[in-house]
Amino acid sequence: MSFDPPASIETRLFINGEFRESSDKQTFTLKSPATFKPVAEVYEATEQDTNAAVAAAKAAFPAWAALSPEARGGYLKKLSVLILEAHSELAYLEAISMGRPVSGYFDAFASSATFGHYAEAGYQALGTSSLNTPGHVNMTLRQPYGVVAAIIPWNVPILFLSNKSAPALMAGNTVVIKSSEKAPLTSAKIASLVEKAGFPAGVVNIISGHGHTSGALLSSHMDVRLLTFTGSGRTGRAIQISAAKSNLKNVILELGGKTPAVIFEDADIEKAAAETQHSIQWNSGQVCMANSRIYVQESIAPQFIETFRKKFQAVKAGDPTVQETNHGPQADEIQYNNVKSYIESGKESGTLILGADPVSSVKGYFVNPTIFTETPEDAKIMKEEIFGPVVNINTFKTEDEVIEKANNTDFGLYASVYTKNVDRALRMAKALEAGTVGVNCTSPAGARDMPFGGYKASGIGREGWTVGIENYLETKSVLMKFEEA
Ligand code: NAD
Repeated sequence: MSFDPPASIETRLFINGEFRESSDKQTFTLKSPATFKPVAEVYEATEQDTNAAVAAAKAAFPAWAALSPEARGGYLKKLSVLILEAHSELAYLEAISMGRPVSGYFDAFASSATFGHYAEAGYQALGTSSLNTPGHVNMTLRQPYGVVAAIIPWNVPILFLSNKSAPALMAGNTVVIKSSEKAPLTSAKIASLVEKAGFPAGVVNIISGHGHTSGALLSSHMDVRLLTFTGSGRTGRAIQISAAKSNLKNVILELGGKTPAVIFEDADIEKAAAETQHSIQWNSGQVCMANSRIYVQESIAPQFIETFRKKFQAVKAGDPTVQETNHGPQADEIQYNNVKSYIESGKESGTLILGADPVSSVKGYFVNPTIFTETPEDAKIMKEEIFGPVVNINTFKTEDEVIEKANNTDFGLYASVYTKNVDRALRMAKALEAGTVGVNCTSPAGARDMPFGGYKASGIGREGWTVGIENYLETKSVLMKFEEA
């Protein structure tokens, strides 16, 4: 498959069905983290632009909500097809903006499937009825909120764009999506596909810009009734505060993680090593659910660590726009410096057994796969999300001990366990404090029909095909009294 540059790159804001420059004409420069060269001048949404996007969504809401599920679904179906057709262009755009290697780019397939799924899901919006109150036939109505805002991160942007906007739209809401300033190009491309699919003006608005301007305004906007966010805990908390201080809008938060993977001595060591190294290496470790803490039972630790090390160091770093590369740079200089500082901190607390200065010999913000062992449980790199290809491998003796260590974190997004003992697998699945537990598999393994979200500080709410529509509907109780004969 070829991943050639597109003839032109869309960098404007998509508001009320048309592309426009920002109201003050200001742009920000997007640079490739692999070449450091500028790749685009992107229009930054001002407060005026953000207000215009919300106003357009508000105006479009009544007519959109009044459409039949088939009519709304027709637009989503068209968009699903167009996204699939744009696969190679989307892969290329992500590669030049945040360094995602084109090899293994699956986001367009996943995003297309999500729009395709929800296109058919409109009839899931059902209320209930009850005869339990004497003299009444009571019922619940499920109704869309109105304007939904979606704020997405840069690591897998269009996956989150679709996971949030497809169910929101199908439930009858209109949306304003704000992409991340680190990876705005694929969202802007999706905007051009929304235009091509013929959505009514104002139903889908997609803007680019920084968090402190458009993101903050969406969080405090009085006309936004629900805000769905994926990103860091720091921003998630700020959004929650703004929501509380403004109109108490509903908030869905998908936040960070510090996934533990527990490897018992009866596990398939080769498979466990291959999958856990893929988890922390994929997307250069910039994955919320990446297993950044591995606990291996003492008796198999030397064998597991050696197998893991060999696989982890075999990555091919380089130009993310070519198929041969499977290890891209960190998304930008800020991410790169963050990861480097965690590695420095790790050297003071644990033992570095792979990865060292220089961080990489390849030009760009590349970080070599890095392994620490014997790191104290309370060390900074065991507690905080690094968001890089950096893993801690510690050992344990007993099941109780490892449960205590695995759960000793503020996060709870994902956890995994490798064992052939069914009883132990079930005990662990119950004991691990995480929204998803993988048994003999680890992140990024997921399932479309399983809810995804965090325990503890990893978030509020769940996303996924079986719960998506529910998230975007309010419940109204209607009490209907009748005269008994
Ligand atoms: P981030 O919080 O820095 O930014 C996310 C988005 O929020 C961006 O669009 C940004 O512009 C916006 N934003 C920033 N400040 C804002 C503010 N004050 N008000 C409103 N919006 C604001 O996160 P990131 O660096 O883009 O993404 C990485 C984080 O996302 C990691 O913590 C990762 O674990 C998390 N993440 C979670 C999941 C999940 O499903 N739970 C998935 C992917 C990433």
